[in-house]
Amino acid sequence: MKEWKLFEDIIQGSPKSFVICTHTNPDADAIGSSLAWWAYLLKKGHTATVIVPNECSQNLRWMSGYESVIEFETNTATRKAAKDAIFNCDVICCLDFNSLNRIKDLGTLVNKSTKTKILIDHHLQPDPIADITFSDTTKAATAQYVFDLIAELGDIELIDKAMASCLYAGIMTDTGSFRHRSTTPEVHRVVAELMKTGFDANHVHRLIFDNNPLSKTRLLGHVLSQKLVSLPDYRMVYMTISEEEFKTFGSNMGDTDGIVNYGLGIENVVMAVLMIERKDEIKLSFRSVDDFSVRDLAAKYFEGGGHKNASGGRGAKTLNETIEKLLNILPEYKENLLSVVK
Ligand code: 5GP
Ligand code: MN
Repeated sequence: MKEWKLFEDIIQGSPKSFVICTHTNPDADAIGSSLAWWAYLLKKGHTATVIVPNECSQNLRWMSGYESVIEFETNTATRKAAKDAIFNCDVICCLDFNSLNRIKDLGTLVNKSTKTKILIDHHLQPDPIADITFSDTTKAATAQYVFDLIAELGDIELIDKAMASCLYAGIMTDTGSFRHRSTTPEVHRVVAELMKTGFDANHVHRLIFDNNPLSKTRLLGHVLSQKLVSLPDYRMVYMTISEEEFKTFGSNMGDTDGIVNYGLGIENVVMAVLMIERKDEIKLSFRSVDDFSVRDLAAKYFEGGGHKNASGGRGAKTLNETIEKLLNILPEYKENLLSVVK
């Protein structure tokens, strides 16, 4: 509770300058929770800057305040602006991640800073990176956590339509549109409160899910028809996307989001893996159902982590080596994969 007192003093006290950072390839929860927290801090009389390691996908840029977000990796000017903001601020808030390696080079700057750090996150096992740590895996989304903190600070009435849209976007996407087990009565109560602001939830849904560039839909079709390998003996499927294909389809960052989930839509499949060849690494996405933990597998073999049923990580040097690595470890998980009730 000492931390709560310190937190309350910071938020309710004299105007301060905040930096808010969130994770690489920011998703709707990352950017939605960050921008709602940003808007809240401004309403409290503080100044604040949101920094993302790299750009958000197109379907998230409608969020109020996105135009002032610094995309760290874009060029030397944005790197400098981010560095200056971190150097000059009083408080750094880390939202929706809990280990500085999730924000790469930006993490080095945050790590070096001696300013007060606040972590707000819902992933397992946070690193001790903050002075004030709000880490709770029972929250369905960091956006839910941000709502709860604002409520606990007695400021629900400061949440306006724009903030509610951002928070709803985070909660809706992190709960898989309210289907994951993380969707508690509390989640629905938070959403009910948000809806009282009168924001248009249906519109938020369309902005996020029915707003894809044609290239994204084409890439999805290609991957599902040509690049999905089914391994029924392991009740799993894997898919790959090479850098070449990414270019051929004119794909953008974000165009690969959600593709892995289609694997779980196949009957009997309990684990789906997507491997994407990027310039300097192979990025993996893991999804599973019920008691099979992809988090353990991602952490043990792919320098990754995340949630029990949704995790990410990094593969071997090449796509083929990564496929081979994955296939080699499957026997270790066979019994668990077969025991899952779907
Ligand atoms: P995605 O597959 O959508 O990139 O990530 C799924 C989940 O795993 C997200 O909750 C994300 O935060 C987490 N995640 C993705 N990549 C990594 C990683 O490299 N390390 C850790 N610890 N978590 C990750
Ligand atoms: Mn999240």
